[in-house]
Amino acid sequence: MTTPNLPAESVTGLPSAVDVLVVGAGIVGLAHAALTADRGLSVAVVDRDHHAVGASIRNFGHCCVTAQTGELYQLAMTGRKHWLDFSARAGFWSSEAGAVVAARTATELRVLHELAESREPGQIVLLSTEETLARLGRQPEDEESPSSLAGGAWLRDDLRVDPRTTVSTLAAWLDSRGDVSVHWNTTALGFTAGSTRAARVQTSRGVVEADRVFVCVGHDVDVLFPALAERHRIERCTLHMASAERPAGLDLQPAVLTATSMLRYGAFTELPSAPALLAEVQANDPALLEIGANVMFTQRPDGTLLVGDSHHYGKSAAPFLQEPTTDVLLDRIQDVLGLESLTVKERWQGIYASSDVGPLLLAEVAPAVTVASVTAGIGMTVSFGLAERNTAALL
Ligand SMILES: Cc1cc2nc3c(=O)[nH]c(=O)nc-3n(C[C@H](O)[C@H](O)[C@H](O)COP(=O)(O)OP(=O)(O)OC[C@H]3O[C@@H](n4cnc5c(N)ncnc54)[C@H](O)[C@@H]3O)c2cc1C
Repeated sequence: MTTPNLPAESVTGLPSAVDVLVVGAGIVGLAHAALTADRGLSVAVVDRDHHAVGASIRNFGHCCVTAQTGELYQLAMTGRKHWLDFSARAGFWSSEAGAVVAARTATELRVLHELAESREPGQIVLLSTEETLARLGRQPEDEESPSSLAGGAWLRDDLRVDPRTTVSTLAAWLDSRGDVSVHWNTTALGFTAGSTRAARVQTSRGVVEADRVFVCVGHDVDVLFPALAERHRIERCTLHMASAERPAGLDLQPAVLTATSMLRYGAFTELPSAPALLAEVQANDPALLEIGANVMFTQRPDGTLLVGDSHHYGKSAAPFLQEPTTDVLLDRIQDVLGLESLTVKERWQGIYASSDVGPLLLAEVAPAVTVASVTAGIGMTVSFGLAERNTAALL
């Protein structure tokens, strides 16, 4: 890789010209910055906040590769190799422990069986009840302590990162490389054609010109480009999340998914038994559908469980968290883990961009200015794959 010539910095620290400007230092923006810099170009990243507080730090850190389909599956598989590469280079935690889907009914097992049959051998490993309990770190069941589980599956290719530390570690590492500069508390305000470079971006700390601009502002695309957001029917999906203290002795490597996860991700919802599963959950546990649940959890490296989540859609995010929603999620997760209770440490609201037009919003909004938002709850999974595709044409 040749070292690009970085332009002289302006008094604010922001370069006046750069090969590529990235707006937004969430995972989508940082993935674009990382892969652009690896192509030998100079990059500046601006983010309006003082440090990352967006969707990329509020999630499970689950790269949900296996449950994607079609184009999203290709992006997820491409992204997988970059996640592992940048984990090693930038020094953030990652795990190749995959994901476990815990099943309670014959219908759920049928869906898992159908998915396994549709994929290469070894990618999806069907599990007995005993094997599922072992993967969840639970004791074998006996007559006195039967579990509610009927079996499950292990999804080999899923990855995990720690959402609380990944973005800050990656941003700091990028900033230290010499060919990338990251500028916090710097808001992009407007985009026009440039005079020395193709695009000119007005920011709250001055003007930057660039040969290419990637605008990766997640759900806030409607703030900068309201007409585009209206055309793509962008909404904010709000999610109830919580963290819980490590249950005694629990060391859970894989992400854990359940029946409601199978109602959400494309690889499951396209299967022949998916309608039967939806009818079964509707009949047996309608509260889950009422809150738009995807009952799942991951364990952070410090042992904390990240538990969630619910889904509610609207143009603006209602700020109020409903306690009964969290109660439903905690109750179902306790059942999967065979626990009487979990001790909640934190609650928060997650927000991501959602659209019924499609899972990706990619648009040229001005000369050499590309908007890239993931408009489904899979931005961790596809960010690097999307960035590889978007940056491929830069050279
Ligand atoms: C609770 C929850 C759970 C999820 N679980 C998963 C999961 O398990 N797996 C998965 O793949 N995905 C998951 N997702 C989705 C995933 O988190 C998002 O798709 C992804 O983080 C979006 O990344 P982003 O960089 O586009 O957005 P963000 O992380 O929100 O970053 C956007 C950045 O843009 C900045 N910005 C906005 N406007 C401006 C401006 N004008 N100028 C400068 N900066 C600006 C913001 O400050 C912000 O830092 C989940 C999301 C949530 C909320």
